[in-house]
Amino acid sequence: MDNDALLKAVEDELDSHPWRLRFTEGVETRFEADTQRQRSHHMVVAGLISSSIYGLFLINDYSFRPDAFTTALLMRLGGILFFALPVLWCVYRGVVPSAREALMASTVVVATTISCLIFVTSTVPYSYLDVFSFGLLFLVGNIVYSLRFRYAVLTTASCMMVMLAFILPYSAMPSEVKRLAIFTLIATALFTLVANYRFERSERTSYLHVLREKLQAGYYLKDNQKLSHLSVTDSLTNLANRRQFDAVFPMLWQDAANNRLCLGLMILDIDHFKAYNDYYGHPQGDACLRQVSQAMRINSRDADLVGRFGGEEFVVLIVNTSPEAAVTAAERIRYSIGALQIPNRGVSAQSVITVSIGVAVLSPSHGLTLEDLLSQADNALYEAKRHGRNRTWLAGSAEVTTGEDVGGSEGVSAQ
Ligand code: GH3
Ligand code: MG
Ligand code: MG
Repeated sequence: MDNDALLKAVEDELDSHPWRLRFTEGVETRFEADTQRQRSHHMVVAGLISSSIYGLFLINDYSFRPDAFTTALLMRLGGILFFALPVLWCVYRGVVPSAREALMASTVVVATTISCLIFVTSTVPYSYLDVFSFGLLFLVGNIVYSLRFRYAVLTTASCMMVMLAFILPYSAMPSEVKRLAIFTLIATALFTLVANYRFERSERTSYLHVLREKLQAGYYLKDNQKLSHLSVTDSLTNLANRRQFDAVFPMLWQDAANNRLCLGLMILDIDHFKAYNDYYGHPQGDACLRQVSQAMRINSRDADLVGRFGGEEFVVLIVNTSPEAAVTAAERIRYSIGALQIPNRGVSAQSVITVSIGVAVLSPSHGLTLEDLLSQADNALYEAKRHGRNRTWLAGSAEVTTGEDVGGSEGVSAQ
């Protein structure tokens, strides 16, 4: 179930069936998955405490019915060691939810049976007084373990039947006392079941509220991420926009300064793009911008920031580079755009779309600023245009290199 569907299901649960103790399929699965670990842990701790107290009742057996003490000792310890502890171990290791509830419930039924056997085994008068403490067994299953309501009802009914099976035929117990005892047990059973129901209901309702909050928070977070992505992305080309460039440029500059590396910047401008737009129209101009930007992205490294400066001007920030490497990168881009062979009949019948690129590479350690890098690249672009377009011009070097010709002219030049 995806988050959308889950959120809707959670809201439906909150709006309807306030009395129900089982969610619809997807929500129930999520509820079990989210609460399983904590619930098992809680049950094991509750089981250990309850077993210890059950064992401590041996003190009562010793003083109250010494004739059956050995039986009580064997039964209680046997029940704890050979039944309760293995069950708790299984729950601790992790079992499916229904097995967890059934196993925990079985410890209550077994404890009830053992307690009944102990009190009927003794021949001392008033051994049956223990029956009045049997309500504690309901308390353990319904409140301390907080068995799921269905299991609590089944466990309570089973224990009740076991108790009645021992109490009713027990002749040493006066009938008025039996009546009082049974009445007390039934009342305790009902009270603890009501408490159990209310507890599970409120546990489930609070879970739904928390889950809804979490899911909604997740959406807001995603919305925010989407918004912040939109605010730094150029909608036409999906490249970084000027805002992102302005934010990232100082960071990369600082990185380069810290690591004593060179930072490269290329500014790329499409040649005769006005003529292209005038000839083919604005929508096709946009399509051309997208093709150019795609070629730029494909031919740049992931670490480099490729952005649209505005109009038909693009930038690439090249991290950890050298003048030669930056020129090679620029030439790769220039060549790939030429290779697209996008006709530009606005210029002439044979013309294709080409670009001019100004490249500058600086090491921040020389007391230079990022504005210097920007203006050097800008000047280099101006020189590329001035020298006939469709070329890469490297700022700050007298050396002239020749790149592969694209679209019928030019190459690499240096200032
Ligand atoms: P040069 O070779 O000197 O760069 O000539 P140019 O015609 O490319 O230069 P100019 O700056 O005069 O023209 C840029 C044109 O880019 C103007 C405008 O029609 C076009 N343009 C700017 N932004 C967009 C845009 O978002 N979409 C489209 N389709 N065209 C744009
Ligand atoms: Mg242009
Ligand atoms: Mg321009």
